Amino acid sequence: MWRATVLTIFPEMFPGPLALSLAGKARASGVWALDAVGIRAYATDKHGTVDDTPAGGGPGMVMKADVLARAIDAAASDVRPRLLMSPRGVPLTQARVAALAKGDGVVLVCGRYEGVDERLIAARRLEEVSIGDYVLSGGEIAALALIDACVRLLPGVMGKEASSAEESFSAGLLEYPQYTRPAVFEGQAIPEALTGGDHAKVRAWRQAEAERLTRERRPDLWAAYQKRRKPPQP
Ligand code: SAH
Repeated sequence: MWRATVLTIFPEMFPGPLALSLAGKARASGVWALDAVGIRAYATDKHGTVDDTPAGGGPGMVMKADVLARAIDAAASDVRPRLLMSPRGVPLTQARVAALAKGDGVVLVCGRYEGVDERLIAARRLEEVSIGDYVLSGGEIAALALIDACVRLLPGVMGKEASSAEESFSAGLLEYPQYTRPAVFEGQAIPEALTGGDHAKVRAWRQAEAERLTRERRPDLWAAYQKRRKPPQP
């Protein structure tokens, strides 16, 4: 079973939204499991201290390496990838999510305050992963996002296996626009290509729209897509 182990000072934030909808149903039926481990239980003093002032001075607090190491060692001694949610990390991509979903699960460490002692990252070989170029107040929402993205790819979680293959990023393009009834909404009709029942026409329209949206909105993805499509001629 795919298992997410989350180390956090707020275990009560889990499963949170992952108790609902597809992820919640899949968890209830044993497709995946979640352990939220409270870091505070591994503090060495009676106050449950998990943080201390930064060496060198400055604002905020830093999560203690010794406490986090004890928590990690107790909760996750197996071979699953150990990720530290961090704005300094490698940006998470759909390709990485798909690779993580194929494995046994993940161990996620959630930072708080100014972050975690650098020595812990090295000593427990944590890989830093970011969910975007903005700063959250803690790693928990990032962990929820990563787990959600992985769980929906587990076999049997989404209705049709095919629906993940056609999505944004899977082919390196953003997804084409979607429509449903009514046929006319506030004077706007559904594009003709989608309503005639001609499957080849539908496929061509969707491909063209996916390319247009990617070109307009994500020049970075568009450049990478073109490079892959047209390998340089010798
Ligand atoms: N002082 C740090 C930010 C700390 S934010 C810096 O400037 O880099 C507190 C915690 O929130 C981080 O330790 C991390 O676990 C989490 N976090 C914040 N933004 C994140 C992001 N974009 N992706 C993943 N985790 C994030």
